[in-house]
Amino acid sequence: MQQGNGVIVTAPTKFVGRESGRILVRLIARSRLCRAAAALVLPFIGVVTAFGIAPDTVTEPRTQTPVVLELALPASNPGRASEGYWREERIQRGDTLAALMARLGAHDAGALQHLRTTRSARALYQLVPGRTIRAQITAEGRLLELHYRNGGNLLTVERSDDGISVAEHPAELERRVLMKSAEIRTSLFSASDAAGLSDAIATQLADIFSTDIDFHRDLRRGDRFSVIYEMFHDRGEPVRAGRVLAAEFINIGRLYRAVYFQYDEKRGGYYTPDGRNIRKAFLRSPLEYSRIASGFTYSRFHPILGQWRAHRGIDYAAPHGTRVRATGDGVVEFAGRDHRGYGNLVVLRHQSKYATWYGHLSGFAKGLRKGTRVAQGETVGTVGATGLATGPHLHYEFHINGVHQNPLRVVMPAAPPISAELKPAFEADVAPLVQHLKLLRSTHLARLD
Ligand SMILES: [Zn+2]
Repeated sequence: MQQGNGVIVTAPTKFVGRESGRILVRLIARSRLCRAAAALVLPFIGVVTAFGIAPDTVTEPRTQTPVVLELALPASNPGRASEGYWREERIQRGDTLAALMARLGAHDAGALQHLRTTRSARALYQLVPGRTIRAQITAEGRLLELHYRNGGNLLTVERSDDGISVAEHPAELERRVLMKSAEIRTSLFSASDAAGLSDAIATQLADIFSTDIDFHRDLRRGDRFSVIYEMFHDRGEPVRAGRVLAAEFINIGRLYRAVYFQYDEKRGGYYTPDGRNIRKAFLRSPLEYSRIASGFTYSRFHPILGQWRAHRGIDYAAPHGTRVRATGDGVVEFAGRDHRGYGNLVVLRHQSKYATWYGHLSGFAKGLRKGTRVAQGETVGTVGATGLATGPHLHYEFHINGVHQNPLRVVMPAAPPISAELKPAFEADVAPLVQHLKLLRSTHLARLD
C-alpha cells in the first residue's frame, strides 16, 4: 500500500494481448445516486490538455480495439422499421438541409419544399455544425422521419398519411449508467475515443486521478482504465454525459480506484473505496489557467513602491475579469476594500488553522460577505488591478497559523475522509460500484487469455 492521498496499490498486474469483444454492463442505479441526477454541475478543477504516453515508450501504430458496447438505439417508430433505414449524419460547416438530405440518401424534393415553407422547421435552416441529424429513409429515397436536436429540444419531422408534420419536443432526459473499459495505446483521449467515451468523461477521469497520476508524464502504453458513468438519453438517443460514478486506472502496474459519494443534498466528492478523500484540502492554484508573474520571496524590488520588500504571496497574471476560485472549503473572513495595498480583498478561513488571501480583485462574487461559506473551486471574485498593482493580476497568499507560507511549496493536507456517521451509507453506495469494477476487469482478463 502506498501512503498518502487515497491511493490503493496492489501488486503489478500484467496485461497482454489484444482486447476484443463487447461488454455492456448496465447498472441498476441506487436511489441515492439517482438523486444526484441531472442538475448538478461538476466543479472541474484540473487543467486538462492532451495526455499522451511518455515519449520514451515505444509505440507503434496499431488498430484501436475498443472494448465496448453501444446500446442499440430503439427505433423510434418500430412499426415502420421495415420500410426504411435510419441513418445519421454529422452537420459540417456550411451545410444546407438539401446537402445533408442528399448525404443521408434522401431524394425527396417534396419533403424539402414542405420544410422550406414550414415555420416550425426553421431550425433546420440554421443548422449548427457538429450536431447530428438522424433520418429514416426508404430504399426509394423517401423521407419518413427526421430527428434534429435543437439545443435541449428534439425537432421531429414525420410523414403520415396526412402529410408531413413538424414538431418540437422538450427533452425527456433519462439517466442511464454505463460502463466502459479501454487500454492506452497512444493517449488518454485516443483510448477514450476508441471506446466511444466523450471528452467530458475523459476529462473527468484525468481530473479524478490527477493527484496520483501525472497525466502529462506518467502514462504508458498498456495502462488501462474502466469507468462507470452516467449518460443522459432522450428518447433512446444519448444526449450528454453526466458524472463519473466510479473508475479505476491501472498506471504502470498500479491500481487506483475512485468512487463518487454524495454526502449531502447538493455536494459530493471522490473517495477511495475505503473512504479516504482523493482530493486535497487546497487547490494548488486559485486560477484555472494562469502564469506566475511573481513568486514567493523574502526580497524583491517593488515596482510601485520602488524599494526592496518581501513578497509573501504569489502573483498570477491573468486577464481582467478572470474568475478567482476558493482554493479550499472555507468561510469568508473579509470581503471588501483594503487600504494597505491589496485593493479589493477576500480572506477565507479554513479549518481555523489556514487562511487564504485573494488581492487586487476587480469584483466580488455575488452575495459574498463575511460569514459566507464557500466550497473549494467556487468563484470568490474576479481578477483586477485594485490597490497597489501595475496591471491586472491576482495576489494570492497562504497562511498557516497566521504565518505566510509559499503555497507552491507547502505540503497540502488531504481533504477530510468519510465521517463515521456517513460510513454505513458510503459503504452501501460504494459496494456495488466496486463489484462492477472488479467484474469488468475480470471479464477483461478472461478475454485476454
Ligand atoms: Zn503580489
